[in-house]
Amino acid sequence: MTTPGTEVPLVDLARPHARIKAMLEQEFDAILSGMRLFLGPNVQAFQDEFARYLGVSHCVGVADGTTALHLALRACDIGPGDEVITVSHTFYATAEAILLVGATPVFVDVDPVTFTMDVEAAESAVTPRTRAIIPVHLYGRMADMDGVMDLARRHGLRVIEDACQAHGARRNGHAAGTIGDIGCFSFYYSKNLGAYGEAGGVVTNDPKLAERLTVLRDHGSPRRYYHEMVGLNGRLDELQAAVLRLKLPELDAGNRSRRRHARTYSAKLASLPVVTPDLADDDHVFHLYVIRSHGRDALQKHLEKQGVHTGIHYPIPCHLQPACTAYGRGLGSLPVTERIGGEILSLPMFPELTNEEVDRVADAVEGYFATSMAVSTSVDAAS
Ligand SMILES: *Cc1c(COP(=O)(O)O)cnc(C)c1O
Repeated sequence: MTTPGTEVPLVDLARPHARIKAMLEQEFDAILSGMRLFLGPNVQAFQDEFARYLGVSHCVGVADGTTALHLALRACDIGPGDEVITVSHTFYATAEAILLVGATPVFVDVDPVTFTMDVEAAESAVTPRTRAIIPVHLYGRMADMDGVMDLARRHGLRVIEDACQAHGARRNGHAAGTIGDIGCFSFYYSKNLGAYGEAGGVVTNDPKLAERLTVLRDHGSPRRYYHEMVGLNGRLDELQAAVLRLKLPELDAGNRSRRRHARTYSAKLASLPVVTPDLADDDHVFHLYVIRSHGRDALQKHLEKQGVHTGIHYPIPCHLQPACTAYGRGLGSLPVTERIGGEILSLPMFPELTNEEVDRVADAVEGYFATSMAVSTSVDAAS
């Protein structure tokens, strides 16, 4: 039985906090009594722990995911005159990072089933100016990295993975973010691994890139008040690193819970006229559980009335954003991206969702189609 009138949030951060509260307060006390607030032992330890967790040799803590992407491009010497192939169906920061270094984003379409880069489309977008590809592991599902790496090798391109939604996703034993030249992570509070403010990380197996990233994130400064190159203030701070160290050991269990909720949703929604995510890939860590539905806006409104909070990730693709119109080829240029933008709906998803809540969400979706079908049947019957 579900409790009528109970709200189901899209994400609830209070529940995981309750688990780590006591330990975190101790950690914060220790940090605040020493007042070592940046580039101290917690940042160092988190970098080591996250690198070990992913199976990669270097992790550099940075200020946020956007900075991770920005600095990854800088570390690869990508700038004005260079083209970077990426998807338009992503959070805007992927494109923004390319624009921040003065390079040109070249947007390609996504696969309608996986929501990730259509590698054939990427191949057709390669020009003599192409320098890098940024695949996005959107919603927690890994992009076709075999395809991307093969393409990159054949054309001599850098690969920067946007793994901001795929902490701990693995395919054939390789974690998202560790396959290309550099992997970029956001620890924005609602990500699968989230801090309590802004935080991010960059990972690589290349010691030279790691060195450059370390210098770039700290004003291009390998030692105090000596600035070797133009960097920025992009450091991870000690308090956020302490939060991340406490949460990292829970990441795998959290991802398993997300997958379990996803399986339940998909089973319960199977007979409804919605497209549910493909569960065959075991590399999906369900940062978001996204369905596709005709009449999405009406469905969303219905769910909101039932106290089920949903999201749209994302309503306007990058190539149609005012900030990007100079770079895209306009409406009609990316048909899959443009179509799914009007159909996607993110249902509540976080590890601590209860079985009752998952049932309640699925029932509310079912209820919508029961009534809307009843309406359309009666309209048909009347006409
Ligand atoms: C969250 C996110 C980012 C940006 O991360 P911030 O920490 O918010 O700067 C970039 N790309 C994707 C796909 C994201 O989901």
